[in-house]
Amino acid sequence: MLSATFQGPYKIEALETDIPSPGDGEGLVKVYASGICGSDLAIVSGQHPRAKPPLVIGHEFAGEVVSLGGGDTGEFQTGDRVTLFPLLTCGTCYACRNGFSHVCASLRLIGFDRNGGMADYVTVPVDLLVRLPNDMTYDVGALIEPLAVCIHAVGRTTVRKEDAVVVLGAGPIGLLTAMTLRSIGVEKLYITDIDPFRLDIARSLKFDAVDSSQTDIVEYIKAATNGDMADRLFEVAGVQASATQMTELVRPRGTIVNVSVFKKQPVVDMRSVNFKELTLIGTRVYTQDDYRIALDIAGAMPLDQIVSHRLPLTEVAGAFKTIFDGNQVCKVLFTFGPE
Ligand SMILES: [Zn+2]
Ligand SMILES: [Zn+2]
Repeated sequence: MLSATFQGPYKIEALETDIPSPGDGEGLVKVYASGICGSDLAIVSGQHPRAKPPLVIGHEFAGEVVSLGGGDTGEFQTGDRVTLFPLLTCGTCYACRNGFSHVCASLRLIGFDRNGGMADYVTVPVDLLVRLPNDMTYDVGALIEPLAVCIHAVGRTTVRKEDAVVVLGAGPIGLLTAMTLRSIGVEKLYITDIDPFRLDIARSLKFDAVDSSQTDIVEYIKAATNGDMADRLFEVAGVQASATQMTELVRPRGTIVNVSVFKKQPVVDMRSVNFKELTLIGTRVYTQDDYRIALDIAGAMPLDQIVSHRLPLTEVAGAFKTIFDGNQVCKVLFTFGPE
């Protein structure tokens, strides 16, 4: 079988490996769709603190259970169509003891700390498998994980339908955040980016998409909100420009949700946080509840539209190069079979 194997900084290849066999409490999943995530870029560029080569990456995938190991394998059977909840938690730290294990002090993930699903087959603990609805394609199944990120982010604050909401960044997570906001009835929704390709996708989804390299985004939001500025803002770009803009774009007592992982510590205008009594909220991954909501609402959302590339796994090296070069790319899915 082929496995997208991280072998060192900027070195990723589809290598021929043996099909793993499931251990106790594990299932073997034949993967049909597997996505590249922003955090995979951190791994492949050698910047992820825990991911060590050789490692099969991939934590956003869907497929079919083809065999089960020994021990307790719960409710799953071969033939089940599944995606994965990839979090491995310690069970004993403060967060785990208090019902928010997704921010476990020693959180580990499949595809970072053990081999993941950007491969023909992967073994995973069965208690992390999540059954797909019968009518959901594997491609959409592979997008449940990033959608859950956005559902969790939106759930970190109380968004009202009448709110003016800015999403900074029109990559896969920015676009899915905007779709999630629209799904709860938000109409005054503005999404920004500097990448014309991603802005075009946002426009094709009928979002009010602003090119912040061409347009003064502060003036734009001021005009759009009669001078009031945004009620809520989701920061999904992870660059200094977005960290600078986020405090300018929200109204007094507005809320900022930081979704992106900043590669470099940004400078944030804490004086604005102070003077405008802003609320600054962090968000990280998702809970099982977010997955349930994602499975519920995915069918009514045009998730496919964020997918710019569907490729065979043999093209993994080129796919990462395309993303690092920022060359007309949004979500990349590797697809493995007829479905
Ligand atoms: Zn991800
Ligand atoms: Zn823990």
